[in-house]
Amino acid sequence: MSRHKLSRDERKAIWNAMNRRCAYCGERIELENMCIDHVRPLALGGRDTPDNMVCACWHCNQHKANKTVEEFRSELQRGPVMLFRESCTYRTMLRYNQVNETRRRIVFYFEKKDRERHVSKQQRKRRHRPYF
Ligand SMILES: [Zn+2]
Repeated sequence: MSRHKLSRDERKAIWNAMNRRCAYCGERIELENMCIDHVRPLALGGRDTPDNMVCACWHCNQHKANKTVEEFRSELQRGPVMLFRESCTYRTMLRYNQVNETRRRIVFYFEKKDRERHVSKQQRKRRHRPYF
């Protein structure tokens, strides 16, 4: 399958749309180092078009690979359980309160970003609401 070769301008548009951050972990990334991730993997029938693409850091791109967003989240959520099972150092660090496990649901940067935009839109509306 031949992949859509993005122009520099298309890459830059995807990067700017994500505030120049990794769509998953939210780390700042440079245009030159960013990876393009297909949100719905090509292997699972995702489109090879910019509307199915986000920018990601190398680490997140490697971990997500051919997973859906929910599969990726679920794998990350299992991280502490796997560490507990496989790492004596991790279990020791837990005993000495050197690790703070939150077990909170992982929210990806692109999800927070969309939520913040929604909230600020509501705040703007509120600000322009006339007083009665
Ligand atoms: Zn990342």
